[in-house]
Amino acid sequence: MLQSLTLDTDPEAYLELHRMLDEPVADAGLTDRELDLRQRTRSVVAHDVAPRAAETDRTGRFAHESYQPLVAAGLGGILFPRHLGGSADTTVAYAVIMEEIAAGCGATSLVYMTQTHAAYPILVAGSPQLQTHYVPGLLRGTAYGSMAITEPDAGSDVSGLATVATTDAGGYRLSGAKTFITTGDRADVIVCFATTDRSAGRAGISAFVIEGTWPGVSRGRPFQKLGMNGSSTAEIFLDDVPVPVSHRLGSEGEGWSLVMRSVVKSRISAAAQGVGLAKSAYARALLALRRLHGARLPDQTLATLAELRGRILQGRLLLHAVARQVDTDSDVSPGQIGLMKQSCTDLGWHVADASTRLLGTYGDLEVLGIERCLRDARVTQIYDGTNEIQRMLIGREITRAMDGLR
Ligand SMILES: Cc1cc2nc3c(=O)[nH]c(=O)nc-3n(C[C@H](O)[C@H](O)[C@H](O)COP(=O)(O)OP(=O)(O)OC[C@H]3O[C@@H](n4cnc5c(N)ncnc54)[C@H](O)[C@@H]3O)c2cc1C
Repeated sequence: MLQSLTLDTDPEAYLELHRMLDEPVADAGLTDRELDLRQRTRSVVAHDVAPRAAETDRTGRFAHESYQPLVAAGLGGILFPRHLGGSADTTVAYAVIMEEIAAGCGATSLVYMTQTHAAYPILVAGSPQLQTHYVPGLLRGTAYGSMAITEPDAGSDVSGLATVATTDAGGYRLSGAKTFITTGDRADVIVCFATTDRSAGRAGISAFVIEGTWPGVSRGRPFQKLGMNGSSTAEIFLDDVPVPVSHRLGSEGEGWSLVMRSVVKSRISAAAQGVGLAKSAYARALLALRRLHGARLPDQTLATLAELRGRILQGRLLLHAVARQVDTDSDVSPGQIGLMKQSCTDLGWHVADASTRLLGTYGDLEVLGIERCLRDARVTQIYDGTNEIQRMLIGREITRAMDGLR
């Protein structure tokens, strides 16, 4: 009976179910433009992204065909100025769009957000020449990009970076290894963080734009992963790569502050994925329960659905509120960003987990797509600063507030 569920392959059914799940109380905080962008995204997702999601997950093939319709619909440069090919929209619009894409296909949302994450540091700290040379291609999807920070011995603690940038006539030479880099196997443009002075810790870090075809750049094969299959994750090796000084982003030693400015947007991306995956799991559970039990559900099932619906709404409101604050106040604290990131990504995991359990053995079936939401949700709790690190940042703010108490 459940084999014939066609949510992902029937765009009209997809649109109807997701319309039903819109919450007026959350929509009231969105502008007409943000609502319009959501509708446009949802339509592309229903027609071109969701129908490919199960196969993308099964084969692990890079989600190029799902990502391209999004950029063709003008959704590739939401946070970027018009002269670089963007649409100069709000962070809230970006969060809403990310939520919609993640609800249709987690892997496609990861490909999409990584394009933004690669282009954003170039926008923030690149020269006008670097911006015009690299950003438009990333927003149009004619080039793929990566943001390469993590190394085998430097994950949460970025101050331990061992990739070195040594000065050379006219620029630098980069040597080292990056790991777990999204789109790393195919990136044309790599924003790479390296140290010019290991003894200086964070103060020694700088960022550089390099190209995947430059001499000395090589990649590993994509890792096999639990979820987000269809977004590749790979190592990048740098062997004495010559980099002109003009490809440094900002001043020497500005890399750490660039990481901190960039993670605001990337943590919004991860949080929006959490909300989108939660909504997707909940929608799939509703559809399957309707098919299994009809419209009258057991009280205990309804009580669980009520709890999940409330938590998804809370997550969405938190996401939108923090994104709105980012749009209006440049000084949103790391603890506030952390509250959003850990709450919304834990939400994705919690709702997907609860949804599989609501359906018993059926929850385990690939055809429902709930187990895919669960697998995709896991890594959102890990990347862009693990949730343990987010709790540490929140804890620091609690301690500071406690210090102020009598
Ligand atoms: C699918 C995927 C895609 C990724 N994409 C990218 C990318 O595009 N670019 C990039 O640069 N990186 C990327 N990463 C790497 C990711 O950001 C790191 O895995 C993450 O920062 C954690 O680093 P680590 O794996 O080295 O873990 P570690 O830092 O070694 O941490 C291991 C464990 O210890 C905990 N821990 C560490 N320090 C503390 C502390 N002080 N207090 C409490 N707990 C702590 C962590 O929370 C974690 O549970 C990706 C990872 C994955 C899995």
